[in-house]
Amino acid sequence: MDRIRTTAIVLAAGQGKRMHSDVRKQYLLIRDKPVLYYSLKAFEDSVIDDIVLVVGEGEEDFCQREILDQYGFRKIRAVICGGKERYHSVAYGIRCINWECGYIFIHDGARPFIDDAIIDRAFEEAKRSGACAVGMPVKDTIKIVGKNGYVESTPDRSRVWQIQTPQVFEKPLIASAYEKLLAEEKELSAQGVTVTDDAMVVEFFMNTPVKLVQGSYQNIKITTPEDLKIAETFV
Ligand code: C5P
Repeated sequence: MDRIRTTAIVLAAGQGKRMHSDVRKQYLLIRDKPVLYYSLKAFEDSVIDDIVLVVGEGEEDFCQREILDQYGFRKIRAVICGGKERYHSVAYGIRCINWECGYIFIHDGARPFIDDAIIDRAFEEAKRSGACAVGMPVKDTIKIVGKNGYVESTPDRSRVWQIQTPQVFEKPLIASAYEKLLAEEKELSAQGVTVTDDAMVVEFFMNTPVKLVQGSYQNIKITTPEDLKIAETFV
C-alpha cells in the first residue's frame, strides 16, 4: 500500500498585538533562533512530507531569506500570504495544496515546542478518527463569566481541556469544513461566533466528531512577554 502523504500548514500571519513588540512574535528570538524556527524544524524532522508556511503580507521574502534559507529547510512547498483572521490564513493554506495530501496538520507557528511524539500521536489518532486536536486537561478551575465579571457557571474541571495545535484532519474533511465556513462567515460573525481553532470549524459544519489526544504542558503559545521568558527555560 502507498504511504499516506501529509502536509503541515504553519501559521505565522498573526500580528501578535498582545506581545507589545515592534518585532512580530513569530520572529522574536528564543536562545538566538526565531520562535518560528522551532516548529518548522520539528516538522522538517518528522513524518510530514510538505510544509505550507503562511506569513503576513509582504513578509514572504524576509521569511524566505532569514528563516528558510538561513536554516536550510527543505520541506517548504509554498510560502503564502495569510488573511485578516486566523481562519482566513488556514483557509488560504488549505486552498493552495494542489499536490497529493491525505492529511493536513494545522499548527500555530507561535507554538515552538511541538515534538515528534506529539506529531506521531496526533497522526495516529487522525488516521483512526479522521479529525483530531491536541490539548491537555486544565489544571485550574475554569469559570464562565457573565456580565460585569460575575460568575455564571463552573464547568466540571475533569472534562475541561485547553486546546493546542497541531490539529490534524483528513484533507477532504477539513477542506470542505473551511469552504463552508467562508461561505457563511458573515452570518456566523453576526451571531457573535468567533472561530479560534480548526476543530471548531469541523464541529460546526461536519458530522465527524473530533478526538482529543494529549499534547504537552510545554506546548505553549507564545502570546505575551512572559511566555518568551518561560520558553527560554524550555529550550
Ligand atoms: O491570534 P492567535 O494567537 O490565536 O494566533 C495563533 C496562530 O495563528 C499564530 O501562530 C498566528 O501567527 C497565526 N495567525 C495567522 N493569521 C492571522 C491570525 C493569526 O496566521 N490572521
